[in-house]
Amino acid sequence: MKAAPFKYIRAESLEHSLEILAAYGDEARVLAGGQSLLPSLSLRLSEPAVLLDINRVAALSCEPVVTDAHVRLPALMRHAQLLASPIIEAHLSLLHQAAPWIAHPGIRHRGTVCGSLAVGDPASELPACAVAAGAVLILQSHARGTRAVPAREFYLGLLHNACAPDELIVAVEFPRMDHLRTTFREVARRRGDYAMVGLAGVARAGGRGLSQPGLTFFGIGDRPLQASGICAAIEAADTAEQAVTLALEAYERDISPSADLWCSSQAKKHIGRYLLEEAVHELFQ
Ligand SMILES: Cc1cc2nc3c(=O)[nH]c(=O)nc-3n(C[C@H](O)[C@H](O)[C@H](O)COP(=O)(O)OP(=O)(O)OC[C@H]3O[C@@H](n4cnc5c(N)ncnc54)[C@H](O)[C@@H]3O)c2cc1C
Repeated sequence: MKAAPFKYIRAESLEHSLEILAAYGDEARVLAGGQSLLPSLSLRLSEPAVLLDINRVAALSCEPVVTDAHVRLPALMRHAQLLASPIIEAHLSLLHQAAPWIAHPGIRHRGTVCGSLAVGDPASELPACAVAAGAVLILQSHARGTRAVPAREFYLGLLHNACAPDELIVAVEFPRMDHLRTTFREVARRRGDYAMVGLAGVARAGGRGLSQPGLTFFGIGDRPLQASGICAAIEAADTAEQAVTLALEAYERDISPSADLWCSSQAKKHIGRYLLEEAVHELFQ
């Protein structure tokens, strides 16, 4: 099939982008990497009146900015840069670990981090990393200026998030992970597919065990699932063995995966159990 007719507007600047979104609202769609949007147009799953191409906006494609506390990734940071950038490898190891699991090289070359966060597919890698790590999305609109929304509050339901139609995700800020342990696990039907079940995790090592763990499952519900009960169990443990035991107890109690077309709830629960056990061991190493 071919896309329905639409008006194409190439944004000249960030301000121009925000003006177009203010003028067209829900009638407009942002064209970033196009790796989700273009298939959905071709299948006529969406028929926006306007496509706003932000690819030439210099302010949205700068280098990542590293501060004492976080790394700020601009809207047009591509998935492939998560693998290639020494900044990401040094300061955001979780994203460096997750990136090879996202689709295939051609898609990673165009697809953007913020586009992936905007789509928020529940089986997608980066939204789970953002929730696990406590990232903050920076949203901007012509009418209301800039606001910061924690990833843990951004996802509201299946493919539904807190970004208003006139807002652009201009950047995402991830807390620096230099002194954190990170883990990323995924089982997919084929390499490059969305996850059947996945798990992203961060934790601080020191003292008798792990502190401030953030573990987030994906592929098991309508959005990334922050496993708070499991995190509390891990934080209470002194050793890896104790953490695994307590985490698995919490897992049995708290986690009830939703089935999808390819995988039953029971199979997902089984896979998630193994991913969790491996992830806890990795965080303790
Ligand atoms: C064959 C195939 C396999 C794939 N496999 C995976 C996979 O395994 N894991 C995975 O995570 N993804 C996968 N993807 C999706 C890919 O990662 C997309 O690139 C990503 O989901 C969307 O990013 P994009 O930059 O291409 O966004 P686009 O397609 O350009 O936009 C998607 C949507 O997000 C909105 N949007 C984009 N950027 C912004 C912004 N800055 N502010 C506000 N709204 C914005 C747009 O309006 C649009 O509605 C796959 C895609 C394909 C085609």
